[in-house]
Amino acid sequence: MKLEDKIENIFRLTPAKKSALKKLGITTARDMLYYFPFRYIEFSGLKKISELVIGEHASVIGEVVKIEAEKTWKKKMIIAQGALKDDTGLVSIVWFNQPYLANILKPGAKIMISGKAAYKKGKLFFANPEWQILTNNLQLTTDNKQPTTLLPVYSETYGVSSEWLRWQIKRLFDEIGALPEIIPEEILKKYHLPGVKRALMAAHFPKTMAEAGAAKKRFAFEEIFFIQLERQKQRKKNEEIKGVSIKPNEELIKEFKGFLPYKLTSAQEKVISQILDDFKKPHPMSRLLEGDVGSGKTIVAAAVSLSVVNNNYQVAFMAPTEILARQHFEEFIRRLEPFRVSIGLLTSSESKKFPSKLSFKKSAVLSKSQLLKFVEAGDIKILIGTHALIQDKVKFKKLGLVIIDEQHRFGTEQRAHLVKNKEEIKQYGDSPKLLKKSQIGFVKSAPHLLSMTATPIPRTLALTIYGDLDLSVLDEMPPGRIKIITRVVSPKERVNTYEFIREEIKKGRQAFVICPRIDAAPRNNADKTRTNAGTFPRLSASSPRNPALPLQEMKAVKEEYKKLKEHIFPEFEIAMLHGKLKPKEKEEVMKKFSAPAGDHKIDILVSTSVVEVGVDVPNATIMMIEGGERFGLAQLHQFRGRVGRGEHQSYCFVFTEHSSGRVRERLRALQDSKNGFELAEYDLMFRGPGELSGRNQWGMSDMGMEALKNIKMVEAARLEAQNLINQDPELKKYPFLQKRVQEIGEKLHFE
Ligand code: ADP
Ligand code: MG
Repeated sequence: MKLEDKIENIFRLTPAKKSALKKLGITTARDMLYYFPFRYIEFSGLKKISELVIGEHASVIGEVVKIEAEKTWKKKMIIAQGALKDDTGLVSIVWFNQPYLANILKPGAKIMISGKAAYKKGKLFFANPEWQILTNNLQLTTDNKQPTTLLPVYSETYGVSSEWLRWQIKRLFDEIGALPEIIPEEILKKYHLPGVKRALMAAHFPKTMAEAGAAKKRFAFEEIFFIQLERQKQRKKNEEIKGVSIKPNEELIKEFKGFLPYKLTSAQEKVISQILDDFKKPHPMSRLLEGDVGSGKTIVAAAVSLSVVNNNYQVAFMAPTEILARQHFEEFIRRLEPFRVSIGLLTSSESKKFPSKLSFKKSAVLSKSQLLKFVEAGDIKILIGTHALIQDKVKFKKLGLVIIDEQHRFGTEQRAHLVKNKEEIKQYGDSPKLLKKSQIGFVKSAPHLLSMTATPIPRTLALTIYGDLDLSVLDEMPPGRIKIITRVVSPKERVNTYEFIREEIKKGRQAFVICPRIDAAPRNNADKTRTNAGTFPRLSASSPRNPALPLQEMKAVKEEYKKLKEHIFPEFEIAMLHGKLKPKEKEEVMKKFSAPAGDHKIDILVSTSVVEVGVDVPNATIMMIEGGERFGLAQLHQFRGRVGRGEHQSYCFVFTEHSSGRVRERLRALQDSKNGFELAEYDLMFRGPGELSGRNQWGMSDMGMEALKNIKMVEAARLEAQNLINQDPELKKYPFLQKRVQEIGEKLHFE
């Protein structure tokens, strides 16, 4: 049997089992062996009931004789209570706040429990013991002489229980024989990591927690190391591509700065010169610009674009929403107008050009085909738009720079598109064939790539997932910003908050109201349990013990709009913004809302998360978020960044009906944090990786994300990957590794 063998060819599986396994991501023997438990139940000190000692920890195997869910006399708690018997006696069992156990542990079930025996009112009992249902399978390992002390618990799905997995995984180990080691021996030795087979065995059936911990360390290292190898390989590849040469023009940049109504921050200055330096290098730039909301990324993009245009190359600037594309278009016109740069706007609903035929100061609508002709002829130097930019028919004459704003918002495919184009260039060199082939019409050399994001991610994640990119950080806010006051609002404070908002709007300010999307799927990971040190993190499948929040809690935009307009703020102008509006309608609303203070026609904008990215309305000082617990911290932080952009004190009110400690604690982190990077680190350390704007976005396992909590390990993995790729770029000496890395490249998402 080989690791690649399909699980259905190894075991006899019913179709239901097969699809249940698939749901857990298990299709091959490897998948199953790498399906790690997220914790272990410790069953130590197996005793007969008659041997139990009050106050001592023990495990008991027995049969459930009765079990019921009931309310305690104080009516404060629901408990499941019953009794367990073995051939020596009877013991009471009770679980607090887990009434569903009465449905799972039915009378007659054979179970093993573990906990501290206690005594009250003449009865011997266990309160909240660990439990596990036993079937015939498990008895193999739990005969009374040699009890299993650590029992792995896996994320389950309907039809696949932990117990079933244990049994099958044991069988796999019996049949699999030797496993090829993928990590080079020297590296294993250097970091004291166990070999693959030993580690796999220890991960599933450890003898001690320390053994499980060592296994975890190995697989965490393994995942980060493999990703790093793949990224370093990409990086090496990128270095072999010929880039467009852009000569920086100091005078020009100076002049550009002279026209600005403000002084650039030193962080902005630094990043601009980093980028201009990259332009001089022989290979194309691949740079990620990270900067908290409001740190001023757009102007950096404008400055370096000017430099590219000055070298007679074109710029493609892609934004995730039409609103944002339009806003960038207008900002670029304002900043570059003195330099007579022609700028185009292309979204699926409109095409515009600046300057218009009639006026040097204005933009005008033109047909899409006309706009595309101008772009192809090189008469439009900067084309700004949405993903409409990556259509086949968009061809540039001389593309020098691609900028992607809010890059995390683009889908895998769209990002892959750009990467693919680069590879084509390598393959086809300067051949004219490429001109026809590539979608973003690259000419001769590959254009530079600048990705921008306001999603603050922890350093370890950036090092890993963006290992192939250079990183710039805008770690300084433009001066004069007033810190936004953030409050988590409970239902009983709602009325007062409305009154406060009323006063602000009367003073002439504006407000955003954000509601969770109407059709949003419930977030499975919103209530993810924390993982304990020494155990494996929970895998992605949602566990039956961890149900998602109910859908009906969501506030629909329309409903909220109606409520505010009719009952709460009848005296104000209120409008809605959501994905179902036509682009024209959206534009109309944004125009009315974002007109200069005093001229604005809308006081309150009720919106879905479409305003999350980029929108800039300095007169808006209130951000009110409904259903705060439904959003990730990073996203909430983004919402908050929509206010606090002007001269007035701004406020962010996060409404939540949840009173649970964990929800509030998390929202409070938002209240207390100084910036997005701090929040990201908080999310990683305390909330688990699910909150990090979707682990799924990165295509990493929870194990890998868990590993990111360890900066030393991440740095070691990165160092080793760099060394290896430098010595052997194609990993020819390590065929297994080469294959794995290739698979990872296909699986992992591009940025
Ligand atoms: P983000 O990084 O979130 O994309 P923007 O580029 O939208 O931020 O900039 C936010 C606001 O800050 C804009 O109104 C912009 O004009 C302003 N801004 C940018 N840089 C500076 C600066 N150095 N000084 C003052 N205001 C600035
Ligand atoms: Mg922006």
